Amino acid sequence: MTAINTDAFRLLLESVPDGFFVHDESGRFLDVNARSCIDLGYSREELLGMSINDISRGAEGEANERQWAEAPVGMAMSFLERALRKDGSTFPVEISLTCQMIGDRKLFFGLARDVSERETAHAAIECQIADRTAELADANERLTMAVRVGGLGIWDYDIVADQLQCDEQWYRIMGRKAERPVRTIAEFREFIHPEDVDAATEVDRTAADLAAMGRDYGMLFRIFRPDGSMRWVRSAARIVGDSLGQPVRAVGFVVDITESRLAEQTLERSALEDPLTGLANRRRLDDELVKACLHATRSGEPLTLAMIDVDHFKLYNDGEGHVRGDAALKALAGILQGVTRRPYDLAARYGGEEFLLLLPGVDSPEPIFQRIMDELRALLIPHPSSPVAPHLTVSCGCVIASELADFAPLDLVTACDRALYRAKQGGRDRVEIIRL
Ligand code: GH3
Ligand code: MG
Ligand code: MG
Repeated sequence: MTAINTDAFRLLLESVPDGFFVHDESGRFLDVNARSCIDLGYSREELLGMSINDISRGAEGEANERQWAEAPVGMAMSFLERALRKDGSTFPVEISLTCQMIGDRKLFFGLARDVSERETAHAAIECQIADRTAELADANERLTMAVRVGGLGIWDYDIVADQLQCDEQWYRIMGRKAERPVRTIAEFREFIHPEDVDAATEVDRTAADLAAMGRDYGMLFRIFRPDGSMRWVRSAARIVGDSLGQPVRAVGFVVDITESRLAEQTLERSALEDPLTGLANRRRLDDELVKACLHATRSGEPLTLAMIDVDHFKLYNDGEGHVRGDAALKALAGILQGVTRRPYDLAARYGGEEFLLLLPGVDSPEPIFQRIMDELRALLIPHPSSPVAPHLTVSCGCVIASELADFAPLDLVTACDRALYRAKQGGRDRVEIIRL
């Protein structure tokens, strides 16, 4: 086998893209290739008169010398360095160095690769990371701000360990002190309204279904603060599943919506309520009448409907004024409210000075009318211009339906009207009953 001659090695060393060098135990250069000269900006002659310490930025010559003296033959290592050019600038190099015995001398052979590009790329990535971190911090700050402005209390529930963790705003909403933490669902349940408690803590029971459907949990419920006040809260959460889809955690927020809920309820109520008397209005009556008719048809139970109309109320207004007229209507409404106390009874203002009573299951309403007449008489609201009596009186037209199959709600109202007309024709201050 022919050995590769020295010229071939030289050619190889001159054509590699890295700087090649040989130095002795003191660091003095014994050989360098053209790449080393180009990278460092020295001529070959110049470099051969120099030591590696001259081109190592910040290298401690003595320390290096000691290391080289102690370096075992056959040692090979790689490390990052900063090389110093002739013009004083520096650049990063990755050095691979090996120590070999050539004859009786310990020599060091090295390859130095300029890694400026790699360093630039690294710096760019680090810049990007820093930018992204700043963006995240901004987003986090915005989120925190939104949570704070929105008054959201944050909760985090470990479903498996039954451990609840809530932030300060959560405790503020619940009217409790964070120093006395609420840790488990059982503890939380203690101050939820009894009617809402099961639904409100369904996250515990139905988390599996929610997680499986990828649905979020949302709930409206009432809680009691330690001072006894009740608050409406809305809660929403995301259920987090493990790798098998089993729910392990729920993270959510709670917000106090008491004020808007109360306003909503007032609005709902006012949509179905007569503002003057507080009785059900025509709209509510129409709904309830349809329901009552359906129930009576299905159950075969009787149903009584009565229309009550103030006698000569136009004259009353003319004589006493509208303010007193309103007060009289309120007084009558109070009486009607008092006689409709069973769950499905309803007293409604039908319009003007006309009222309707809906009495499901009643087929002998006479005592009820007796009571209305008696109570009104007892109030002795003066009505000097009435041709019927010196005080306010009413006429009632009543229909009792024992078998509703053939009748619609409107038929009942028409029949009531007919009965009322009869009562008026008969002299007023009386009750006329029609049985269907
Ligand atoms: P009748 O015995 O035949 O029922 O005679 P009436 O005068 O009661 O009947 P009419 O229908 O002619 O008049 C009803 C009056 O009720 C007219 C109106 O001024 C009065 N009225 C209707 N709504 C109100 C109200 O909200 N407040 C007051 N003060 N009066 C009302
Ligand atoms: Mg009338
Ligand atoms: Mg009238």
